[in-house]
Amino acid sequence: MILANEKKLDSLNSISINDLYILTDFDGTITKDNSDSSWATIFKNPKVTKEFIDECLKLFNYYHKFEIDESITLEKKISLMNEWYRKNIETLAKFEITEEIINYAANNESVMSFRNGAIEFLKAMHDKNIPIIIISAGVGNIIEQFLIRYNCNYPNIYICSNFLEYENGIIKGVRNNNLTHPLNKNEVYLPQNIKSKITDRNNILLLGNSVLDINMVNTSKNVYKLGFLDEKIEERLDPFKENFDIVCINNTSYDEIRSKIKILN
Ligand SMILES: [Mg+2]
Repeated sequence: MILANEKKLDSLNSISINDLYILTDFDGTITKDNSDSSWATIFKNPKVTKEFIDECLKLFNYYHKFEIDESITLEKKISLMNEWYRKNIETLAKFEITEEIINYAANNESVMSFRNGAIEFLKAMHDKNIPIIIISAGVGNIIEQFLIRYNCNYPNIYICSNFLEYENGIIKGVRNNNLTHPLNKNEVYLPQNIKSKITDRNNILLLGNSVLDINMVNTSKNVYKLGFLDEKIEERLDPFKENFDIVCINNTSYDEIRSKIKILN
């Protein structure tokens, strides 16, 4: 089901696709809500130990509830997310998780799959040459491998995420020591080569599945915000309606979205 601010929707449908780019979250937005996050997919590898899984799950169980709690202060949340992500990377290194394990996650359909219609959506955006910037607090290496596997790693897609670095095939840390977590996943931090692709485009379609995702954008450009609401629907509906122009409830497919946002066809 799609709830849209009709005025915004009309306005979005009236813009030129040459003046638009897409800024999107990945986990639960490009993938299905019931897919594991790119982090969680690592646990599904038969080669990881129970000790490793337990340590990560302990972190997840402690920190995830803050991630989806819309009532705690931003300042408090930022510090909690930083802490979580730093501990995650430390745990990967401590248990000597390998590049092979990371790539396995992207190649296993039972752990990660596209939201319905997403493959066709990405292809259509490529055909229309609309830049897509994926900003994710997940694992960039997994996102990239996942897109490659489904022949969707198009040149109009740019990934800004945590890219793990390896030494002799074992995780040592993240590229440039840059942690992307739910509260700094923001286009302000995009590298210059990505920014240069979008400077001439004045309209942004933002896709996310958390109210925090609206912070991906920080600009005077026209922003059209679309939020996927699949988890704890009732208690999060009001904040979603306040923050997003278009709210997609209960596993909305990209086909349904494109039936409303006609410029994406
Ligand atoms: Mg997400």
